[in-house]
Amino acid sequence: MGKTSFRHIVIGLGGLGSAAAYWLSQRDGGDVLALEQFELGHARGESEDHSRIIRKTYHTVDYVRYAQAAYDTWAEVEAHAGEELVVKTGELNFWPEVTTLDETAFNSAMAACDVPFERLSAAEVSRRFPQFRFDDSIHAVWQPDGGLLAASKANAAHRRLAARQGAVLRDNAPVEAIRQINGGYEVRAGGQIYEGEKLILAAGPWTNRLLAHFGLSLPLVVTQEQVSYVTPLDAAPFTPERFPVWIWMIHDNYYGFPIYGANGVKIARDRFVPTTAETRSFTPDPENEAQLRGFLERHIPQAAGPLLYSKTCILTHTPDTDFVLDSLPGHPGVFCVVGANHAMKFASVIGRTLADLACTGETAQPIEAFRFGRDALRSTE
Ligand SMILES: Cc1cc2nc3c(=O)[nH]c(=O)nc-3n(C[C@H](O)[C@H](O)[C@H](O)COP(=O)(O)OP(=O)(O)OC[C@H]3O[C@@H](n4cnc5c(N)ncnc54)[C@H](O)[C@@H]3O)c2cc1C
Repeated sequence: MGKTSFRHIVIGLGGLGSAAAYWLSQRDGGDVLALEQFELGHARGESEDHSRIIRKTYHTVDYVRYAQAAYDTWAEVEAHAGEELVVKTGELNFWPEVTTLDETAFNSAMAACDVPFERLSAAEVSRRFPQFRFDDSIHAVWQPDGGLLAASKANAAHRRLAARQGAVLRDNAPVEAIRQINGGYEVRAGGQIYEGEKLILAAGPWTNRLLAHFGLSLPLVVTQEQVSYVTPLDAAPFTPERFPVWIWMIHDNYYGFPIYGANGVKIARDRFVPTTAETRSFTPDPENEAQLRGFLERHIPQAAGPLLYSKTCILTHTPDTDFVLDSLPGHPGVFCVVGANHAMKFASVIGRTLADLACTGETAQPIEAFRFGRDALRSTE
């Protein structure tokens, strides 16, 4: 049997745990163990697809600053991995006349952080991007740094580089028990007992199962989502060089991507249908597919070709949509991260922040809003 005692044990190798394993192994090399309950790169969690949107358009200064740090961190990982992970396409945010979101908050936060952006009328959108069709009731905000993060590729890069730096990555090793011992924790997983001084819980939709080992729980909601890939009638106007990522700025929004990773544009509409990691379905919802087709026909008609495929996914939400990134109450050596439905763009900087916290107890990153004990996370039970 190999080494069983480690300085750090990461539980969960989705987007966030893979990043934590990478940044911990940068500091502590082979003193990092990472445990995944399924095979590496599996599609049962939140993080695996060709693309996720990366953007600096956020509604608070702290999020914009964290997003800026995310871009810098991805650039370091790209240099280390020797591959492109962030594809800048520019980002178009469409603001309808009536929305649940606060455009002023977004624009003020970007201005405060020197993030350039430009307001475009519907006519100006049509002139620059004739692929879109909107009437004068909408306007758009253009942010040139927005784009897509090659999610599955980035997760694989984090894991590959972590292993190269000495981290031990175990797949098919579900964590079944955690017990506090002198100087750390004993973790039972996949028929083995391991010891770790520090633990990182990065279990996404399975978070409350892990927290139960500490007598804790969070008021998280897991929802069933899906994305569809649609083959455009003509591919040329939909390459990443010509077609930006875009978001319809309202709760339950539509959003989309250029052709990347598959032979079609990607489009989705948030469903927010409550489920659990155990009961979720892998069968796409045809009603959602029909809504997407209707949106494409109305607003991006050249993209409304045949459906290539749809893919289901699950998503973990906190009540205030802010992440959890903190130590557990009463366990200063155990850190919990929850992505709260928008974390993939931040994955690497979140991993780095977790490594800072685990190794030094401190971080320079703006994570005050992500405390475990904040009011919004006090269970209502
Ligand atoms: C359809 C969709 C669209 C999205 N769009 C965007 C976007 O455009 N931009 C963006 O930034 N974010 C987006 N997100 C959100 C983002 O993808 C998630 O916030 C992020 O992937 C969360 O990663 P995670 O590592 O926390 O979770 P997961 O990827 O689910 O990873 C958790 C891992 O922990 C493992 N695990 C759990 N319990 C155990 C155990 N007991 N033992 C061992 N292993 C365990 C699981 O098997 C899993 O691999 C989107 C999500 C979805 C579903």
